[in-house]
Amino acid sequence: MPKGQVIIDTQRCKGCRLCVPACPHGVLELGKPINAKGFHAVTAVHPEKCTGCTLCATMCPDVVITVERA
Ligand code: SF4
Ligand code: SF4
Repeated sequence: MPKGQVIIDTQRCKGCRLCVPACPHGVLELGKPINAKGFHAVTAVHPEKCTGCTLCATMCPDVVITVERA
């Protein structure tokens, strides 16, 4: 069971990728679909590895990511 769950407001993501290396567990990566702003939004490719540490949410300059802890 993952300890945390990332909720990504994909339409607001600008694809800057700052959150990707911020995650110590490789949970996040840019996805293939393009959002309404024309960017590849970030997605959780390994959601089962999320610890709920909130580092990704802290890093995001646009407050796109919310973390819920289990
Ligand atoms: S909360 Fe922590 S473990 Fe989960 S995706 Fe964000 S940085 Fe990674
Ligand atoms: S830091 Fe925020 S805006 Fe940048 S890719 Fe991650 S979620 Fe998207």
